[in-house]
This record gives sequence, C-alpha cells and structure tokens, in this order.
Amino acid sequence: MTQTLSILGSTGSIGTQSLDVAEKLGMKIACLTAHSNDRLLEEQARKYKPHTVALVDEDAAKRLKIALQDTSIRVLSGMEGVCVCAADKDSDTVLTSVVGMAGLRPTLCAIEAKKKIALANKETLVAGGALVTKKAKEHGVEILPVDSEHSAIFQSLQGMHRKEELKSIFLTASGGPFFGKTREELADVTLAQALKHPNWSMGAKITVDSATMMNKGLELIEAVWLFGVRPSQIEVVVHRESVVHSAVEFVDNSVIAQLGVPDMRIPIQYALTWPARYPSPVQKLSLPDYGKLTFSKPDEDTFRCIALCRGAIERGGLYPCIANGANEEANALFRGGKIGFLDIADLVAGALESVPSKENYTIDDVFDADGAARAYVREHIS
Ligand code: NDP
Ligand code: MG
Repeated sequence: MTQTLSILGSTGSIGTQSLDVAEKLGMKIACLTAHSNDRLLEEQARKYKPHTVALVDEDAAKRLKIALQDTSIRVLSGMEGVCVCAADKDSDTVLTSVVGMAGLRPTLCAIEAKKKIALANKETLVAGGALVTKKAKEHGVEILPVDSEHSAIFQSLQGMHRKEELKSIFLTASGGPFFGKTREELADVTLAQALKHPNWSMGAKITVDSATMMNKGLELIEAVWLFGVRPSQIEVVVHRESVVHSAVEFVDNSVIAQLGVPDMRIPIQYALTWPARYPSPVQKLSLPDYGKLTFSKPDEDTFRCIALCRGAIERGGLYPCIANGANEEANALFRGGKIGFLDIADLVAGALESVPSKENYTIDDVFDADGAARAYVREHIS
C-alpha cells in the first residue's frame, strides 16, 4: 500500500500490533506518539523511521530527544506535540490507539486536518461522541472502527442498500474472566484474576473493563455513535468463544455476522485497507476445531456496568462522558489496589446520580464533566 500512517499510542497493545500490520502492508509511517514509554518509542522510531515522534510526558520527551540525537527524527512533547502529529500533512490515516478520553483532543485535531481515522480509542467516542461525529461530518472524514465488534458490524453492513434496512445489532461479549460468578464471589477478586482474560491479550485498562463488562457498555455507546442506531436496537449477547465478533439483523430478519479467530490484527488491517482486503498473517478459522459456538444473555444484575452505560446513552448529553470518566478513575484505583472490584460499578452509578449533565455540550463541557466524575470517585472511595 502506498498510504502513509500515523499512530497515536504506538507503544500500546493496539499500537504495536498496528505497526506490525502496517509494516506487512508496506505502509510508510509519518508520526508516532505515546505517553511516557521513551524506550519503546525510541526502538520504534529507529525501526519504522517516522519523521516526528511525540511523548506527552515532558521528562520522557527530553530523554527521547537525547536518545535520538544521531537521527533526523523530530521529538515533540506534551499534548500539543501529540496534536501536531495527529494533524501532520504527510499522513493519509491516523490510527488512534491512545487509552482513555485523553485521545479526544488529538482525534479532533486529526479530523480537522481531514485525516481518515482508524479508531481503536473508544473512550473518545463515548466521552465526546456528538463532537467527534459532528466534526467528522463537517470535514467529510471517515471514522473506521478498529474495535473488533464494531469492525464486525461495519463489515457486516458493507453493501447495505439503505440505512432503514438495518433493524438491530447483536453486540457479542466474551463475558470476561468472571463469567458465571455471583456478586458475593466477585467481592474479593484480585487484580491478577481480573487480568486473566480468556481470549484476548490487551492493555491493563481494557482488560479490567472486560472483567467488569464496562467494556461492553462503552462499546454499546460506541456503536450508537458509529452506526447511528438507538440504544434499544443493540442487544448484548455473551459468546464465550470470541469467534462471532458481532452481527447485524436486517428488516427481513436475515442476520449477517463476521467471524474469525480472536486476533486484533484482522480488524486493524481492515480499518487500514478498507474497502479493499489483503492477505493477512492471522491464523485461519477452523470451525470444526471449535465444534460448537455458544450464546447466552448477560447477567446484567451482577455486571451492572452494561445497564449503567445503556442508561447513560439513553439519557444522552454528558452522561456517557460521566460514566466513562468515573470508570477511568475507578478502574485505575482498582489497578492500584485502592478499591475493590465491585466498587467500580458502584462508583460509576454514584457519579451518574450526582454529576450534572447538559445537552449541546462543548469540548470544555466534556473536560469539566470528566473532571467532575473523577472527583466524585476520589471523594467517595471508602
Ligand atoms: P495500552 O495501555 O496497551 O496502550 C495505550 C497507549 O496510549 C500507549 O501507547 C500509551 O503510551 C498511550 N497513552 C496512555 N495514556 C496516554 C495519554 N494520557 N495521552 C496520550 N497517550 C497515552 O492500551 P490498548 O492498546 O490496550 O488500548 C488502546 C485503546 O484501544 C483503548 O481505548 C482500548 O479500549 C482500545 N481497544 C483495545 C483493544 C486491545 O486488544 N488492546 C481491543 C479493542 C479496543 P505509554 O506506553 O507511553 O504509556
Ligand atoms: Mg471490543
């Protein structure tokens, strides 16, 4: 492929897999960014030869600048540096794999610069969905999903005649490491147990979100924005094998799904090559090896985050941003050993009750609501 790519969050789980995919596709790399991992970003810079790299953390950026002195690679710092990379004139596509709503500002910068967006960073769409989709429309920018479920929905919708033909979406969920457990059993689970995902190897934040099933709630909101459906049109279905990555139902009750082994390099590659398809190093799916595939309803009383997110997007305004901000804070506190597993959903619920929302929000409103939700969580940890 002759296209040029920039990656925001190149040192993470999705970022490193995206570099692998881009290399095999023969794509050129313009810019790479990360938060503070100067060592890995240096390695990537030497290997993939971007002309610019950026680190949010100023000290890490200083170290990287010294480390790359013998090259002509420009090193930038801070969120401004990341935004410069997002808008760089040489890239055709910007893949956003930052974790958290910190990806919102650079994503908006990339859209303003009319870059095609390959979006892994779901929190950006959850927190600022109206702003992101409006800006993308204004600038005629495509947002191509990287999240496996949304890629599956997008792939299943290829060739749809009219939007009105789509009736509903089956959003599949692995159920995570705690599938089948009761609330009592979840009270004392540890971080190590939460990090043992049955099918996917991912960054720590999303792995904990998968354990609480907040990830599925965030994905429900992500699907509302990406596909213009109502929350009531999305049904979450537990599918332990992670082979059916999601499905769409049309008005004639015909259902189309996308299947494949659980490997993020398939959706990453499709976002980069759409509408074309290229060969991939990913293992081939053998259905006889699986033998059977199972489907069931999620236990939304135990895994409250799904219903909390559904309620948040139904109420609209800044409620999804509040749910996301509270979860980002609570997820980090759980990973830091400061709160228990069940506290995460309780704190998200509390923030949704207490933090005020508004309709027709601006980017400042999004950051204010996010800050208020995080403050709520910090004030209410027992
Ligand atoms: P990781 O934690 O592995 O990587 C996150 C990346 O973002 C790193 O490059 C990190 O830099 C950078 N980063 C962290 N904080 C900031 C910040 N404040 N500002 C700018 N950059 C920052 O996450 P994942 O790759 O697992 O996930 C990335 C996104 O993709 C998430 O939104 C997740 O929900 C989504 N996603 C991930 C999947 C997966 O399989 N991992 C599947 C589907 C969606 P540094 O290394 O320096 O900290
Ligand atoms: Mg997903």
